[in-house]
Amino acid sequence: MGGYGNGQVPLGQLVYIGPEHYLLPGVNAHWQGLVGEARASYGVTLRITGGWNGYRPLAAQEQYLRDNYTAHVLPVAGYEYYWGGRWWKRRPGKPKAAKPGTSPHGAYGAVDVANWRDLARTEREAWAIFAALCAKWRFATQRVPGELWHIEFTGDPWAIPSWAGSGSNTFEPNPEPEPQSEEDDDMPKNSLATYRNDTTSPKPTYTALVYNAGSGFNVEFTNGANDTPFTDGYLANLRASHDTGPAFATSKGAADVIKAACAKVLAGG
Ligand SMILES: [Zn+2]
Repeated sequence: MGGYGNGQVPLGQLVYIGPEHYLLPGVNAHWQGLVGEARASYGVTLRITGGWNGYRPLAAQEQYLRDNYTAHVLPVAGYEYYWGGRWWKRRPGKPKAAKPGTSPHGAYGAVDVANWRDLARTEREAWAIFAALCAKWRFATQRVPGELWHIEFTGDPWAIPSWAGSGSNTFEPNPEPEPQSEEDDDMPKNSLATYRNDTTSPKPTYTALVYNAGSGFNVEFTNGANDTPFTDGYLANLRASHDTGPAFATSKGAADVIKAACAKVLAGG
């Protein structure tokens, strides 16, 4: 399967989820797993943002551009790109639109999630949980700078895994090795979260948690200093030695959630 240009998969080959919401079969299987786990563990039913924000056909991307951008025949300062015989510039307050034919939403696996912020009381905790769940279900986060809601599936978008569709919704981490894309090779293997370990003690310590929500691997480090955050140098060493993404600050509560999720993966489900 596959071989379609950006935004050109016939809708009949996609799984219909709701109005203007379609996903490729392999993406849908993992999305349903992610939704099911978020609902079971956090009582939140994750939703795709209204509009063509799962798979996006080319015509929808073109309409999206026309709705949010202005066009000019000449390359004036501030115009972002040339398409369809015109230069295009985003209207104030309107969302960014990729050039038609280049959107990740037309390239099989992107999903915009409307309500990930509901996963916890604070945005930081919600983000930590969301990022961990996404990693477990093979959705990459932070591929588009500034768009925390935008996630991209990293597995085979066409293949329905053996664990899907049985109704049990049981997740088997890495049931079979998947061919890695070049993009995956460049992606950091692990995540890195830092948190203040004890907010009630007069001398709290800082902890760095390196984890892999897919494999369950997790290990913690403390700098041993009372109430002193990690230095940039310390975190840079940790990133290099443990192949992590950029450090993000979180809370002890969110770190506990991540560690529990890792323990569950390590225990085999
Ligand atoms: Zn998006």
